[in-house]
Amino acid sequence: MSALLRSALLAAARSAQLERAVTRLPVSRDVVSRFVAGTTTDQVVSTAETLLRSGRFISIDYLGEDTTDLTQAQATVEQYRVLIAALGRLPQAETTSGAVRPLEVSVKLSALGQALPRDGHAVAREHAHQICAAAEAAGLWVTVDAEDHTTTDSTLAIVRELRADFPWLGTVLQAYLRRTEEDCRALAGPQSRIRLCKGAYDEPESVAFRDRAEVDASYLRCLGVLAAGQGYPMIASHDPAIIAAAGAAVAAARRKCEEYEYQMLYGIRDDEQQRLAAEGNHVRVYIPYGDQWYGYFMRRLAERPANLAFFLRALAGG
Ligand code: FAD
Repeated sequence: MSALLRSALLAAARSAQLERAVTRLPVSRDVVSRFVAGTTTDQVVSTAETLLRSGRFISIDYLGEDTTDLTQAQATVEQYRVLIAALGRLPQAETTSGAVRPLEVSVKLSALGQALPRDGHAVAREHAHQICAAAEAAGLWVTVDAEDHTTTDSTLAIVRELRADFPWLGTVLQAYLRRTEEDCRALAGPQSRIRLCKGAYDEPESVAFRDRAEVDASYLRCLGVLAAGQGYPMIASHDPAIIAAAGAAVAAARRKCEEYEYQMLYGIRDDEQQRLAAEGNHVRVYIPYGDQWYGYFMRRLAERPANLAFFLRALAGG
């Protein structure tokens, strides 16, 4: 996909006007269901159970981001409580301390109030603490998603603070950011869980690599740091070249298969997810659900021309 088209789609992902138009299109729901596992807790838990039966782990994201409304942020926390309670009733909920937990939720701090004008950082930290406490009681993990680079310092500071109470709390680092190799070195200590992805936002050259080859090279350097570190690397990519290189990196670091995991998004490369799981690897599927699918969906369109073509064909009725 041309860099220009990708930037245009990522700009569209943040337009409230386009969101209103796209979410009203009659075909949107059908196309979106390829990437989003429904709108209700029951629907996403049912999808999670199917994936768990196939030998994969799961991480569920209640969709929403960039809220500047405290009531909405509180409603998001409540939604997570309901979700965590439902997941905690599954037999895979794992309360053994130190064990790899098959069930996880992923959270975006901007959905928990991080963007509130005055005290966003503190509100998001308090909300994330409440979600972590509920997850701990239910035998689940939590990982904090990475959003655009203006939030990185605040997000990593919150994760650092929360890890005092919840040492298992995971965080996402984006290989396209120039700072990330250094962040990997700083964060790959004992018990850390780092999900390494390429990065999905439209970032300026001043803070991010924009050339694909440079992003891939950064990913491999960061992966080398994590594999050699003392934590639990989570290799989040669908890219065959990255997956092959990751296998070599963890082998070189003499890691056993329970000392790292692969992660992919729901609806993307399902065959590859199953192949990796059948080989004995830990594979976790990130499953988004909820009504606020627009931003997530647009980022998936921006990643791959075939996804955009699929959406446009559905719009044209063919
Ligand atoms: P790419 O080079 O983009 O793709 C390689 C190949 O994978 C493609 O050729 C295609 O075969 C397949 N593929 C990739 N994307 C798609 C797609 N959308 N549809 C169909 N096939 C596809 N980004 C963030 O910025 N913050 C986060 O917190 C975050 N969390 C993530 C969590 C998980 C578990 C995963 C897997 C990704 C996450 N991402 C996040 C997204 C990530 O940053 C990338 O944008 C995305 O994964 C695409 O990069 P890639 O490594 O798969 O490689």
